[in-house]
Amino acid sequence: MDVSRRDFLRVSSGVAGSSALGGLTGLGANLAPTLARAAELRIKDAKTVPSICPYCSVGCATLVHTVDGKIVNVEGDPRSPFNEGTLCPKGAAIYQLHVNPNRPTKVLHRAPGATEWELWDLERAMDRVVELVKKTRDETFVERLQNGKRVNMTPAIFSLGGATLDNEWNHIHQKLLRGLGIVAIENQARI
Ligand code: SF4
Repeated sequence: MDVSRRDFLRVSSGVAGSSALGGLTGLGANLAPTLARAAELRIKDAKTVPSICPYCSVGCATLVHTVDGKIVNVEGDPRSPFNEGTLCPKGAAIYQLHVNPNRPTKVLHRAPGATEWELWDLERAMDRVVELVKKTRDETFVERLQNGKRVNMTPAIFSLGGATLDNEWNHIHQKLLRGLGIVAIENQARI
């Protein structure tokens, strides 16, 4: 590829604010083989598993690439008739759900009025949740309304679920909460 100084300045000014890749392609450089090779190296020998983005009700199809059981890449599945290989910024960041040094993996507890977080082990945290749920339910349980209608519910506990909970989790979660008489349940999975 012959690029004169004039060509370089013309293209550089034309792509000011754009990317270096844009500048190179503007000069006629064909980057397709290089980009294809880079993509191939990343997922070379990887196992590909079809999956679905958990973030919203669109349910875009994804391909999850793993090497030795570890996720190395997540991208849109081009076979999907509705997302056709694309993902929105949230979906494109799914990889970081799994591989992210900033992801908390320990229970942090901040007591009422405290300014610092305390590290708790999971057993202690679960025992505390159970203790508070039982106490609150016992104190607020309503068996019948004033008109005599049986309701067996507590209006004092609210459950808020995230979009990344899967169907199986939500099924069990609903059974547990309904069984406890909790009626205020919100989750994106209802969509
Ligand atoms: S990629 Fe974006 S639009 Fe698609 S399901 Fe995920 S959050 Fe929804």
